[in-house]
Amino acid sequence: MILMEHIVREGHAALRKRAEEVPFPLSKADHQLSEDLLNYVINSQNDDICEQYGLRPGIGLAAPQVDASKRIFALHITEEDREPLSIIAINPKIVSHSVEKTYLTAGEGCLSVDREVEGYVPRYARITIKAFDLEGKEFKKRLKGLAAIAFQHELDHLNGVMFYDHIDKDSPFKEIPNAIPFERE
Ligand code: ZN
Repeated sequence: MILMEHIVREGHAALRKRAEEVPFPLSKADHQLSEDLLNYVINSQNDDICEQYGLRPGIGLAAPQVDASKRIFALHITEEDREPLSIIAINPKIVSHSVEKTYLTAGEGCLSVDREVEGYVPRYARITIKAFDLEGKEFKKRLKGLAAIAFQHELDHLNGVMFYDHIDKDSPFKEIPNAIPFERE
């Protein structure tokens, strides 16, 4: 089980490295890691488990955040009036994206960042993604809203990019051209 002490924080080299492609069939270790990542995000959204284990709530977690250089992340997103998204994405990629951008009005957060970082993080409003599941089967999805934003945040982790790299240093709340703001409930 992944706990907060297993999650590396900013400054750790693992967060700045390009993670390695994952071979199939999955090794036992990669299979376990994938499930652990998803279980963390699911557990972190359960008040009782969260309190018991001192977890910080999150909607996504990527392998480099637990010091594993693998192209794997998990997302667990439940929003009102939207189909829940709960996926393990292995060797994920964005195959196409909208011209339109979006950003979270409250900014982004990260389980590897123990401080508030203010500013707008521009993201594509809609993306079409491909990734492999635990069985090595490729799947394709169209994502928008919070799911699209979270997918891009986690994919960045596989490329050594932090969310605040995208924030304009001189003017963090500068209007993002061509963007529809996204307000999280
Ligand atoms: Zn993050």
